[in-house]
Amino acid sequence: MAKNNKKFLLDENLGKLVKWLRMLGYDSVVYKSISIEKKISLCSKERRIFLTRSNKIAKRKEDFNRILIRSVKYDKQLQEIAHMLELNHAIIFSRCLKCNHKLQEMQTEKIGSLVPERVKHYFTEFKICRKCGKIFWQGSHYDDMMNKLKNLLTI
Ligand SMILES: [Zn+2]
Repeated sequence: MAKNNKKFLLDENLGKLVKWLRMLGYDSVVYKSISIEKKISLCSKERRIFLTRSNKIAKRKEDFNRILIRSVKYDKQLQEIAHMLELNHAIIFSRCLKCNHKLQEMQTEKIGSLVPERVKHYFTEFKICRKCGKIFWQGSHYDDMMNKLKNLLTI
């Protein structure tokens, strides 16, 4: 499987890691309140890689792709799986960090009052999540995140 179309399913306690994976553009889900058996079957069905911090889950007999994450901190966790990731400009920032939905580009004229005036003044590219309504733009935090990703993934 190519690096840029990997899909993931994460444990609920990997909430920070899931955001960074989405930022990179990877389809990454956290299913809450469902059984581990159901998670595993979804994992196989949706061809996802199960990222878990649980030894028990990592050792399960069922046939599914899994990776045991050992670190507690998200930056170290990201480094643990860095070999399977890439900083791909075709997919980076293409997903909603909150709900994993694919973002759509939105023209500045159509933004209206959805973002503060000063934001519209400084930025021209906006993306919207049609599922949760959140709007993203490449503000000052963007460069920080990019640098962080470059360092973590040593690209
Ligand atoms: Zn969303």
